[in-house]
Amino acid sequence: SRALVAIVGRPNVGKSTLFNKIAGRKLAIVEDSPGVTRDRNYTRAEWLNHHFTLIDTGGIEPDSEELIPSLIKKQAQIAIEMAHVILFVVDAKAGLTSTDREVAQLLRRSKKPVVLVLNKVDNDKVSEHYYDFYELGFGDPMEISASIGLGIGDLLDEVVANF
Ligand code: GDP
Ligand code: MG
Repeated sequence: SRALVAIVGRPNVGKSTLFNKIAGRKLAIVEDSPGVTRDRNYTRAEWLNHHFTLIDTGGIEPDSEELIPSLIKKQAQIAIEMAHVILFVVDAKAGLTSTDREVAQLLRRSKKPVVLVLNKVDNDKVSEHYYDFYELGFGDPMEISASIGLGIGDLLDEVVANF
């Protein structure tokens, strides 16, 4: 069956921006109803003849800071159970946070392949926080800019290599 790829991470790291960027690419290749992708949290996508379903687990992010850790953990849990590959998104501008560490702990216990995605790398300067993210235990962070669209092809290569 079709592989499931889940985007996981705390609020504001750029999960939805990445989702839309990948969904947008796919819309350029495959026919779909225009205007529906923006509000959906799942989409069919294709890369190098690999077909998969992409899920943005963020959904509607909570306003309350206190709700965030439990909600994110629940989302990560769902991703661990359902997904074939997990895109764990962190924020190069904000740096590593305690919520990132909590999500990482859950993801490490799963046997699923996790791709660590360092978002908001909008230029070719190495983020001052880059090396902090090795602590999460997922190896080299893959640097992308979801809003500008940098590094997305390399990221998708890595995703389909895990199918
Ligand atoms: P989510 O809460 O994880 O879904 O994050 P969003 O996709 O809603 O993005 C949160 C904020 O980060 C928005 O203001 C985005 O415009 C911004 N953002 C997302 N990706 C990038 C990026 O690659 N570079 C920069 N500078 N900002 C980004
Ligand atoms: Mg979002």
